[in-house]
Amino acid sequence: MTDLSATTLSSAPVPSAADYPGLDAWRDLPAVQQPTWADSEVFRSSVAELAVLPPLVFAGEVDVLRGRLAAAAQGKAFLLQGGDCAETFDGATADKISARVRTILQMAVVLTYGASLPVIKMGRMAGQFAKPRSSNDETRGTETLPAYRGDMVNGYDFTPESRAHDAARMVKAYHTSASTLNLIRAFTQGGFADLRLVHHWNRGFMANPAHSRYESLAREIDRAVKFMDACGADFDALKRVEFFASHEALVLDYERALTRIDSRTGLPYDTSGHFLWIGERTRQLDGAHVDFLSRVRNPIGVKLGPNSTADDALRLIEKLDPQREPGRLTFITRMGAGNIREKLPPLVEKVTASGAQVLWVTDPMHGNTVTSPNGYKTRIFDDVIDEVRGFFEVHKGLGTFPGGLHVEMTGDDVAECLGGSDPIDQEAFVDRYESVCDPRLNHMQSLEMAFLVAGSLAA
Ligand code: PEP
Ligand code: MN
Repeated sequence: MTDLSATTLSSAPVPSAADYPGLDAWRDLPAVQQPTWADSEVFRSSVAELAVLPPLVFAGEVDVLRGRLAAAAQGKAFLLQGGDCAETFDGATADKISARVRTILQMAVVLTYGASLPVIKMGRMAGQFAKPRSSNDETRGTETLPAYRGDMVNGYDFTPESRAHDAARMVKAYHTSASTLNLIRAFTQGGFADLRLVHHWNRGFMANPAHSRYESLAREIDRAVKFMDACGADFDALKRVEFFASHEALVLDYERALTRIDSRTGLPYDTSGHFLWIGERTRQLDGAHVDFLSRVRNPIGVKLGPNSTADDALRLIEKLDPQREPGRLTFITRMGAGNIREKLPPLVEKVTASGAQVLWVTDPMHGNTVTSPNGYKTRIFDDVIDEVRGFFEVHKGLGTFPGGLHVEMTGDDVAECLGGSDPIDQEAFVDRYESVCDPRLNHMQSLEMAFLVAGSLAA
């Protein structure tokens, strides 16, 4: 993750977050998409337990990330944020976690070359356990039960017991996040991330004849790595990479319980993850999510869908980034391929004119969800790529910086999104659709996206 030598471990008593003014103001505001916990005693004991467990991430790391994102907001770095729509407790295995981290690192090498910029690597990982839903209920046949809201809240099995909202799941989400982060830290700090090795893995992608159109770019990267080697680049130093954890800060009981006062600065940090975002469904200006996240020091993202107005964006800046601090606020736009070229320009223009320096990131997934003829929630690879292209075109036209990519992806060979050069068709969904929520790009589709985006960045 990151060097903590700058962080002093003080022995002075750290003030309690409960005494910090305003941190609980959200409790009096409307909070949508919250669980209705079944057992208030379990709720009380779970929150009390979370409140004294060690932080999952450290305030010093969060500050490093804010600095990296500030560079991206200024056009000097690019953010790659990827992972599951919904992590699951069962899915937190060494194989799946390492495949996801590997895929993100592989994408990052290609993007670093394409952008000629450092790429900030961030997982939708180690905390992405809660989901907003468009309906409170789900009906199957004649039975209606509460909708699945992510493993932090209830189970995916369609039974009344599993679908009840169980606060003890928050504690399990914490421990699963801790073991996931432990593995991520080991992989990214322990030599696993050697640039030459990561580059070597990309040969597996190139070995597929369907990807021959990317050969010249792959060859260029190969020559660049050999050139660095010949120049005596310190590949040992490149064995370690920074990797940050992020998730949607949805369940406020969990986020608040993991908020700590940093002993160095005396300020509150939500230590459940380095970067937290507010979803499209919970970004109400006077709502609990915006209020709570306005009070923690972490860098914050906000999703902006096709109904967002420039006024919404300006008021979010006023609340979440009143100091106009680069790196503090990221807008993650998810307009849909058919909307982005029309809806994004007025937002970017007015935000830029206001003097705010936000980081603009594209989420080309959530505006492009469709149902396949055989009934699966899916996304078409070409639509996803088209939204990314639209995002780059808009920023190029306005002279602003397209600063990052936010994707739902996995390192596994699943079949959830349609298309790609080695195409996934809907028949493959029957055996290889694993997501409990939204469809993800699989390993090959993710790498293909990186090659396509690198091509656009280099153009
Ligand atoms: C998500 O990122 O999984 C999500 C629910 O996104 P949005 O809030 O943009 O719909
Ligand atoms: Mn999703």
